Amino acid sequence: MSELQISPIPAFTDNYFWLLERNGKAVVVDPGEAGPVTRALADRRLELAAILVTHHHLDHIGGLATLKAQSPVVVYGPAAEADRIPGLTRTLAEGDRLRLEALGVEFEVWEVPGHTLGHIAYVADGFVLCGDTLFSAGCGRLFEGTPEQMHRSLSRLAALPPATRVYCTHEYTLANLAFAATVEPDSAPLSDEIVRVRGLRARQLPSLPSTIGHERRINPFLRAADPAVAVSVRRQSGRPLDSEVEVFAALRRWKDGFRAPPQTQGR
Ligand SMILES: [Zn+2]
Repeated sequence: MSELQISPIPAFTDNYFWLLERNGKAVVVDPGEAGPVTRALADRRLELAAILVTHHHLDHIGGLATLKAQSPVVVYGPAAEADRIPGLTRTLAEGDRLRLEALGVEFEVWEVPGHTLGHIAYVADGFVLCGDTLFSAGCGRLFEGTPEQMHRSLSRLAALPPATRVYCTHEYTLANLAFAATVEPDSAPLSDEIVRVRGLRARQLPSLPSTIGHERRINPFLRAADPAVAVSVRRQSGRPLDSEVEVFAALRRWKDGFRAPPQTQGR
């Protein structure tokens, strides 16, 4: 068996639909539209074996109907959002194991509420498909969940082995780094990372995947327990922020209102 390959299909302004392939078979994650997936499959002569969905947002499910009409594949997704994902055929919940024979990969399903209430992550040996929960240097907006839920979801992901590769579904890294550097202006890993990612983006290369170990160094949303982050967030919010969750909640609110300076804005 050849090795599993994972590559991004760029779509819309800044989405990535991750394509997992092995021996001519492919699985696509969160296809928000069908066109780019169909072209990638044809270009690489791949047969679509299944579709994985992390949550119900349209830019993650908009391609399901067309792709299913082209080939009747199984669509896996969160049980808690089944009524909001037309075309879902197999529902998954916390602790479920999903073995994709076509790829020789097994996932453990984690419920990671926060961005949406039913959001799931697919955790495999060595990598995680985390949808809009964890981004490089950032995290998803809290559209449905509470800060407590998102903090817990991110803490679980942060506890994965450091080498675990992180496949996020948006190229938000540069804009996230601008915010992270505002929170931790003295961080050397962050200034190195800004230079590195600017170089990648200038050549139109993806900044992803990241790794859990890397995110623990640069991502303020995984660092609410770090004194440098807590002090900075307290100063900005003007509140005592007695717990790690309160720091996290204030950090997320700060980011919601943050506009990156033009030269650091991501796509
Ligand atoms: Zn989303």
